Amino acid sequence: MKIGCPTEIKPQEYRVGVTPAAAAEAVHHGHEVTVQTGAGLGSGFTDQDYLAAGAKIAPDAKTVFDWAEMIVKVKEPQAAERAMLRDGQILFTYLHLAPDPDQTRDLLNSGVTAIAYETVTDRNGGLPLLAPMSEVAGKLAPQVGAWTLQKANGGRGVLLGGVPGVLPANVTVIGGGVVGTHAARVAAGMGANVTVLDRSLNRLRYLDDVYGNVFRTGFASAALTADLVAQSDMVIGAVLIPGAAAPKLIRRDQLSGMRPGAALVDVAIDQGGCFETSRPTTHQDPIYEVDGIMHYCVANMPGAVARTSTIALGNATLPFMLALADKGWKQAIIDDPYLRAGLSTHLGKLTSLPVGEALRLDA
Ligand code: NAD
Repeated sequence: MKIGCPTEIKPQEYRVGVTPAAAAEAVHHGHEVTVQTGAGLGSGFTDQDYLAAGAKIAPDAKTVFDWAEMIVKVKEPQAAERAMLRDGQILFTYLHLAPDPDQTRDLLNSGVTAIAYETVTDRNGGLPLLAPMSEVAGKLAPQVGAWTLQKANGGRGVLLGGVPGVLPANVTVIGGGVVGTHAARVAAGMGANVTVLDRSLNRLRYLDDVYGNVFRTGFASAALTADLVAQSDMVIGAVLIPGAAAPKLIRRDQLSGMRPGAALVDVAIDQGGCFETSRPTTHQDPIYEVDGIMHYCVANMPGAVARTSTIALGNATLPFMLALADKGWKQAIIDDPYLRAGLSTHLGKLTSLPVGEALRLDA
């Protein structure tokens, strides 16, 4: 199959859909790979790296879109990219169609067979193509939170791990899923005193079983959450209620009871944020202060470490990309019901019920 990988054009997006390692595997499977010139640069991959992997380099996006039978990307196609899609072509990327009627209509009009990373599932009910980005954001959260806590950034001036004779910082992580577990492990590794709160007893049992000597766990009642937040130097928001906006777990009136200069890192900001005072920020201007409390609310945290994120995403997408290329999309989704969960549009038909319900289109 002809696999095409264009340069991402969404602002601030430095990842790339196909790594040189993935290109080499596709070529080894007998496929052709064409990458737009410079597509990998934001992640530290040169055209030369792709050529060495057996891929070809195209001068512009149009050449890639016109040539390819399957387009592999990172972000949802932008309007200029959607205009280049056609029926019979496969699009494999993050789509997030539910809040985006314009994109949905354009994909339907193009006739493309679009498979969304974010709705591909696995046999444990997980989302294998979202998990790597949650792992990245989780591990990044204590790192950016530690920076936010520095005095020059408006923070409390506290070192997470303390030093001999000085107590470590208190870190509370609300939500003990993929983001929360990775955040808690890193914060504990930096020497902080970490507590993870969740409302799932099964999850808390698992966390206590596996990490009981690394961090503490607590049931996320409103009362315990309020108590711990008031004693925290850093709070990391990492909750998710699938298909719903994040619940607001810290109200504005609680901020005045917190330690002055404490840091709130709201990783759930891409779902609306789990603190009442959260609003989305960017890597250029990531933090702001409300009532003496510093907020970090960057909605695309993995972009800060584009190379790590690209490789992590590429590892997760590779088996699906190879299955689609080796078997063709139809046989690939017949063989794999978890990949089939990603099928979103085909020949002008919407094939995702949740997207149809969200947009009130015919599914
Ligand atoms: P996950 O499903 O693995 O974990 C979410 C956890 O939250 C679950 O354990 C659930 O039981 C718990 N939870 C739900 N409601 C709760 C409540 N009221 N109190 C306490 N815990 C509660 O999800 P995840 O992959 O860890 O993602 C967490 C959030 O991070 C999501 O909103 C996701 O969109 C976001 N995220 C953001 C970025 C970013 O760049 N900002 C990157 C990746 C993920």
